[in-house]
Amino acid sequence: MEKVKYLILGAGPSGLTLANRLKDLGETNFLILEKEQEAGGLCRSVTVDGSPFDIGGGHFLDVRRPNVNAFLFRFMPQEEWDLYTRDSRIRVDGMEIGHPLEANIWQFDLPEQVSYLTSIAKAGCNLDAPMPERFVEWIVWKLGQRIADHYMLPYNQKMFADELDELGTYWLEKLPNVSFEETLLSCLTHKPYGTQPGHASFYYPKKYGYGEVWLRMAQELSPQVLYGMEADILDCDKRRVKTKTGEIFEAEHVITTVPWQSFGQIIGMPEEIRGLAAKLRSSAIETRYVPDDLPTAAQWIYEPDLQVPWHRILVRHNFCPGSRGYWLETRKERVAMFGDKPAAYHYLNEYAYPLNTVGKPEAMQKLSAFCQARQIYGLGRWGEHCHYNSDAVVELAMQSAQRLALL
Ligand SMILES: Cc1cc2nc3c(=O)[nH]c(=O)nc-3n(C[C@H](O)[C@H](O)[C@H](O)COP(=O)(O)OP(=O)(O)OC[C@H]3O[C@@H](n4cnc5c(N)ncnc54)[C@H](O)[C@@H]3O)c2cc1C
Repeated sequence: MEKVKYLILGAGPSGLTLANRLKDLGETNFLILEKEQEAGGLCRSVTVDGSPFDIGGGHFLDVRRPNVNAFLFRFMPQEEWDLYTRDSRIRVDGMEIGHPLEANIWQFDLPEQVSYLTSIAKAGCNLDAPMPERFVEWIVWKLGQRIADHYMLPYNQKMFADELDELGTYWLEKLPNVSFEETLLSCLTHKPYGTQPGHASFYYPKKYGYGEVWLRMAQELSPQVLYGMEADILDCDKRRVKTKTGEIFEAEHVITTVPWQSFGQIIGMPEEIRGLAAKLRSSAIETRYVPDDLPTAAQWIYEPDLQVPWHRILVRHNFCPGSRGYWLETRKERVAMFGDKPAAYHYLNEYAYPLNTVGKPEAMQKLSAFCQARQIYGLGRWGEHCHYNSDAVVELAMQSAQRLALL
């Protein structure tokens, strides 16, 4: 059995950032266990048809966290990244409309604009109607029936789950109301309105896929990253982890960035809390390469049509210099819709989106409180079971290292 001060489960962005920051702070007694043979998690890339392909889906580094960007540029200098202005679109009503839809209704034909505006005027949030608690009704209340039917509901169904009412609304509550007056003004002046969505400006590596920066981070930690080590049993009382291949590790602090529901066994946790962990839900996403070019300047396109298998197209030739082709993101359950046609390349991510189901915040709060009292900490997209992007998990991991080093 090996003993360390910090045992980190998972060498994705969260685990790699945490370990590098601990090292910066003089804490070198750590190990990372990673089940794959390579670091990077959902942010890994491979080469397909001579150019990068991000196996976890299209990955872009938001510019909004300068401290995170500066940290990542330590491993992959800024000159190695291109800076882009976001151009993303939604295929709806036979057109490609700018994202977000509510800010770009002016791009439709006049009769369509009138129809969307009428529907927004009747949206519950514009009539001071009480806020519903179920996801489907909530979306209609917030955005109006037309945006709900033509985009938001089918798109969320394609990406997350068929049972939309199992999702909570707490994660959407900060969305600004869609204002009838602003939408009307935008249609009259032919300009988008409101605040820009995330990734309004983003970086993507010039010569590599998004996975490169994490590989370089992992190199800095070698040989403290152990590959092919899948954590299987977590013993909360002893802070011990047993891998699928039988190795045992014990630590003063265990930091887990892996999905809670993926442990084979959790020992020393009350039945009720173990049940909450096992019930956390997620969606699996397949990424698939198509070697054709698309006649669009967009970097990515949302596809809400339920008859089409995929929900998002990543137009690689618009963000990877010298590349061709595009890739598709499709929820696992919908992949059969492609039929028998073989894909040029495809990869299935069993854990892609943590689902924001009803009751999840309360379940995570109980789970975290129990674990933290035993020096076991959930970190990142899976440790906290939140839709964090990589820049957000890097920031959280930096803060977490600071806290751990003070203990
Ligand atoms: C389709 C899609 C598009 C996205 N687009 C963007 C984007 O444009 N920009 C952005 O910043 N972010 C994006 N994200 C989010 C980004 O992928 C995550 O924020 C980031 O990967 C989270 O890092 P993490 O380390 O917390 O988790 P992960 O990347 O999932 O890393 C977890 C690690 O744990 C390992 N692991 C799992 N189980 C075990 C086990 N039992 N034992 C040992 N190791 C284990 C995994 O192999 C993995 O290496 C996207 C995500 C998806 C699914």
